[in-house]
Amino acid sequence: MKFIDLRSDTVTEPTDRMRTAMAEALVGDDVYEDDPTIKLLEEYTAKLTGKEAALFTPSGTFANQLALFTHCNRGEEVILPHDCHIVAHEVGGASVIAGVQLRAIESVNGKMDIDKVKKAIRYVDDIHYPETGLICIENAYSDGTVLSLDYMKELHMVAKEAGLKVHMDGARLFNAALSMKEEVSEVLKYVDSAMFCLSKGLCAPVGSMLVGDEEFIKKARKKRKLMGGGMRQAGILGAAGLIALKEMRLRLVEDHENAKYMAEELSKIQGIEVLKDNLDINMVFFNITDNRLKGKMTQEAFLKEGIKINPEEDNMMRFVCHYYISKSDIDTVINFIHRLRRY
Ligand SMILES: *Cc1c(COP(=O)(O)O)cnc(C)c1O
Repeated sequence: MKFIDLRSDTVTEPTDRMRTAMAEALVGDDVYEDDPTIKLLEEYTAKLTGKEAALFTPSGTFANQLALFTHCNRGEEVILPHDCHIVAHEVGGASVIAGVQLRAIESVNGKMDIDKVKKAIRYVDDIHYPETGLICIENAYSDGTVLSLDYMKELHMVAKEAGLKVHMDGARLFNAALSMKEEVSEVLKYVDSAMFCLSKGLCAPVGSMLVGDEEFIKKARKKRKLMGGGMRQAGILGAAGLIALKEMRLRLVEDHENAKYMAEELSKIQGIEVLKDNLDINMVFFNITDNRLKGKMTQEAFLKEGIKINPEEDNMMRFVCHYYISKSDIDTVINFIHRLRRY
């Protein structure tokens, strides 16, 4: 049975073109830097992002933690938005791997107040103070919003003035750039390193990329090995990654349009309140304001119709659009909710 899976864009399986490319990929031992497909992927990524170098990693969490581990010394402090992925969803890895402490700054849609960031930077040489090691941002933010280029520029200036680097968690970097109407290389001008996922809306089965300057990536390559992320014939995965970047990246606009269509249709349903300010990418967030409808909109009820959803989180539902969600799938979902209301 084919499900309509709205839980996340991580559920996207590799496409037929990816599977063929994976089967035919030229490979070598990537720990010896002998894998031609990974080399291609890393070169292509560097060019596309306007950075000097790139590194293939097993996951986005891995790449973020590797970035902290490479940029920072133990005991340093990382300034970042209070509910970003690195704080909320990476199992406390920063304290285990990089050995850093997270200085979480209250934020709205991933935006930390610039003055609060300035205040949080430890300029003064005080025997009690941990040193600031890094500033992190997340764009697109996991609440479905993007940062503006102006904000990124301003934060970058503040970091530069303090002699600090900025790392960007860009799990959905291409969705962000699309929504910001900017080239990816323009967005990344204002950060020193960034990671993005091949395995979300881009449909690759496994992998994320870390980008930065040559020196940073060289250091990160060794730390990746320490973390157990030195992979051998990784080109099998890299082949799918190349298709993700060359082809699947160019169709993300469909997911954004579908999300807007879904939001529009959902907002026509009485008892559903769509968060219209959180509609920058491929995600739709909404509240169910009618308790009777809320009681009916269970995972089990949807599953019986062949639709997979996540339960409410903080009183909010999230439906995610991706390659395997067509406009007619959205109609199916909307019609089902209309039916639920009427029962
Ligand atoms: C998914 C995600 C990650 C982590 O990626 P994984 O490949 O799942 O480890 C990091 N940051 C954000 C914002 C994400 O959405």
